[in-house]
Amino acid sequence: MPVGEFELIARYFERGPARRELLGIGDDCALLAPGARGDALAVSTDLLLEGRHFFADADPVSVGHKALAVNLSDLAAMGARPRAFTLALALPAVDEAWLAGFCRGLFALADRHDCELVGGDTTRGPLTACITVFGDVPAQAALRRDAAQPDDDLWVSGTVGAAALAVHDRSEGRERAADDPARRRLDWPEPRVALGLALRHVARAAIDLSDGLAGDLGHILERSRVAAQLDWEAVPVDATLDGLPDALRRRLALSGGDDYELLFSAAPENRAAIEAAGQRLGLPLARIGRIVAGAGLRLRDARGRPIDLDGHGFDHFA
Ligand code: ADP
Ligand code: MG
Repeated sequence: MPVGEFELIARYFERGPARRELLGIGDDCALLAPGARGDALAVSTDLLLEGRHFFADADPVSVGHKALAVNLSDLAAMGARPRAFTLALALPAVDEAWLAGFCRGLFALADRHDCELVGGDTTRGPLTACITVFGDVPAQAALRRDAAQPDDDLWVSGTVGAAALAVHDRSEGRERAADDPARRRLDWPEPRVALGLALRHVARAAIDLSDGLAGDLGHILERSRVAAQLDWEAVPVDATLDGLPDALRRRLALSGGDDYELLFSAAPENRAAIEAAGQRLGLPLARIGRIVAGAGLRLRDARGRPIDLDGHGFDHFA
């Protein structure tokens, strides 16, 4: 960015000397302090493009929030504790009102999770925000996608389908108001960081729901080389989907994305510990099925009868 790049960085992104890390914004690199012995550094990147992940007229406060939230959600799904992040930003022009709003949403969430901005890059270009987060997790406690085992229970946090409903209505030309509950689930996802930490040594495999329950479960199944039996009646479908036709409700709940809930597998002996964690966090946790030997995803109704996933199992939702 020719004029004002450094003023812009100083004004919006530098917030004084690094608090926890060794060196933050202002040098050629940031320096992260080494973690505790045995901790791995969990690293994840997500790219948000205007027009694809958010719209030009989107509230910049929610864009700032969501840009970091989707990254923190990846740390949560690994059982990692957030510590720092970098931000690469492309801006078509210096729009101070937009930047101020973006930073407000970004730093409110960052501060809540004690996650420090330690560096980044700023350039002129189509509106894009790319964040890389860094977190700590003891290597043995990381909640990997390849760790599910036959007979594990399958659990999901919160509710599913509301964000997908907001996207669906938008695609049909019925934009919901910004304060509508479904829109809020889409624009203000809450990364389940505390849950991820509580699941260390309790859950086996975990993933965050960005692409939809069926598709994201499919990633665990493929990586772990197992199959799953999902009980449709146990899936915590968000109340905003009440009254929709069955097929649409099921499609939004199972293949709609953007929920950012955690889906995880755990041994049945950990049921009480998981329920206690949900109570402590004030976050409902639903047991929605189990892992079995084999390949693919089967869905069944309350009486145990198979529900057709159009004959394609989870591949249909890919
Ligand atoms: P370099 O020339 O080494 O790429 P820059 O001039 O791009 O450095 O950036 C100067 C300093 O400001 C660096 O410490 C960089 O990490 C930081 N920085 C640049 N853009 C951002 C941003 N959007 N958010 C946070 N820090 C940034
Ligand atoms: Mg640079």
